[in-house]
Amino acid sequence: MALPPLSCSPLVKDDLVYPLTCHVANNLLAPVKSQRDILENSMLEDDPNGNCAGAVVPQVTVGPRWGPQHRGAQELANLYSTGKRTQECICVGICLTLMAVNFAFILFYIRLEQLSTILVAAFCGIVTADFGSGLVHWLADTWGSIELPVIGKNFLRPFREHHIDPTSITRHDFIETNGDNFMVTVPFLARMLWDFLTLSKEDVQNKFPWNCYVFLLAIFVAMTNQIHKWSHTYFGLPSWVVFLQEYRIILPRRHHRIHHVAPHETYFCITTGWLNWPLEKMRFWSALETVIELTTGVKPRADDLKWAQKRT
Ligand SMILES: [Zn+2]
Ligand SMILES: [Zn+2]
Repeated sequence: MALPPLSCSPLVKDDLVYPLTCHVANNLLAPVKSQRDILENSMLEDDPNGNCAGAVVPQVTVGPRWGPQHRGAQELANLYSTGKRTQECICVGICLTLMAVNFAFILFYIRLEQLSTILVAAFCGIVTADFGSGLVHWLADTWGSIELPVIGKNFLRPFREHHIDPTSITRHDFIETNGDNFMVTVPFLARMLWDFLTLSKEDVQNKFPWNCYVFLLAIFVAMTNQIHKWSHTYFGLPSWVVFLQEYRIILPRRHHRIHHVAPHETYFCITTGWLNWPLEKMRFWSALETVIELTTGVKPRADDLKWAQKRT
């Protein structure tokens, strides 16, 4: 017996099996955001007009909905302090040094017969980095506020600014783009160096696959915001970056645009984006938000919405 077409009637009691199949198939095949949603509720980043356009409907009376002229975005950009810049410079310096020294140790201890292990470690590192990027991005976008001491202005501010001025990231230099991601890797790379310096040769060999995984994970975590920046860059990208984006090895531009559809509630993974579709279809983020809202009473994205509304 042939299956009914995908446009079959909704789930009903008497005819449970096939409509259930249809329901699941329709759900899996449905686009996460419609073309209309994307056009009406996210900024036209590939607009050559300085990325100032206010999507389809111009909002002349209440100020632009997105872009560098948004009042909230300007206020947030002005909160980037010298102290924060200093912290980013120190973290980038320490991280690059640790990466170079650990890489030298890895080259010293590497054995050709471990190649398959290293490839598995690389793959697991990419997938873990993608999930980690989604988790941190979701936490920072959804909870907390700029008013929180220390983390508010220093670590949540760029997430709020990014939603109302998505292409501001393309105007940030290497330090501002990557400082925080480099910082996250420092404790893990320091621990690895400690192992290389203090363990016996035999113990180093036993721990080698794990250290390869951690090292590659650290590289992908450190690169995540650079990859994210490229996903917002519609002009002048090197052709090898566009190649990696088009073959979905790193976060593609059209794929990441789905996250930027207000209210920014899905597609949080920004390293490769590989996990975005399965996590969305599992309702992973919305289920977590429901549990947290029911247990704490805190509304998701309340602070994000507050900044989005500061248009005049
Ligand atoms: Zn976001
Ligand atoms: Zn983005």
